[in-house]
Amino acid sequence: ATPAALVAGTGAAAKAGILIKDIEALERAHAVDVVVFDKTGTLTAGHPAVTDVVVFGGRGDDMLRLAASVQAASEHPLAKAMVAAAFFKGLVLSPAREARAVTGRGVTAVVDGRRVAIGNAALMAELAVDTRLYAKELARLEAEAKTVVTVARDGEAVGLIAMADPIRPDSRAAVAALQARGIACRMLTGDAAPVAAAVGAALGLDGVEGPVPPERKAAAIGAMRRDGRIVAMVGDGINDAPALAAADVGIAIGTGADVALETAGITLMRPDPRLVPAALEIARATWAKIR
Ligand code: ADP
Ligand code: MG
Repeated sequence: ATPAALVAGTGAAAKAGILIKDIEALERAHAVDVVVFDKTGTLTAGHPAVTDVVVFGGRGDDMLRLAASVQAASEHPLAKAMVAAAFFKGLVLSPAREARAVTGRGVTAVVDGRRVAIGNAALMAELAVDTRLYAKELARLEAEAKTVVTVARDGEAVGLIAMADPIRPDSRAAVAALQARGIACRMLTGDAAPVAAAVGAALGLDGVEGPVPPERKAAAIGAMRRDGRIVAMVGDGINDAPALAAADVGIAIGTGADVALETAGITLMRPDPRLVPAALEIARATWAKIR
């Protein structure tokens, strides 16, 4: 190995906002043939906003207030969207007790003496909440690529809250640049299948998988590697740390969860998906010089 080329390569990368951890990360990155992206905060902006509040018999504001009260303690981007929507309507929140996050599914808490659960189909199934009344509306909203959560009160579905998280303007260019180099682009998301499909179509992805709960993402990466692929996984969140670690190369995208940085071979200093093809290109060029 010629250290001068290595130093020059990693130095050029750092200037572009790409931190390559060590020579092992560089070696693995140069041969990557599939890039798996997380959706939220990686291909999308990660700042969803509430677009629809659906209730049959009842007031939308009452349900939004209940939901925001449960979400007030959560750091999840969806939680922040619901709290912001309640805030802009001037709704006054109630304190939540026994708040519990169910990773990749939703949250539960007690508000105003009522047991409230907010989350996806998996959470509602776990809690045996009958969601049939809202099934048609839910499907219609998901077909618009919106993330939809069901709100249940004392075990009964009382409505839906839909949120939209815009695709980052540079995601399409990033995907196209990778594909132009013969690298397949896939997406793993905790979000529902219709949302995954809509984002996949908008970006021209080679494949999408959803809903995949966080604990199954690492296994999905492992399966691709056993198929002989050399896999890079790109993600932002604490949730994604096991998936980043399971890939040949973990690429942590710039919002700085410490766990993600530790498990990542490559760290992008800005949340710009175009840094992914840039990083792999620098790795390829540098590796060609030092081997
Ligand atoms: P992603 O894979 O897109 O990063 P997550 O694994 O964080 O998504 O979440 C997956 C799904 O779990 C969300 O789409 C949502 O349906 C549900 N969920 C997660 N956190 C919350 C929350 N605080 N409130 C309601 N639903 C949630
Ligand atoms: Mg995530």
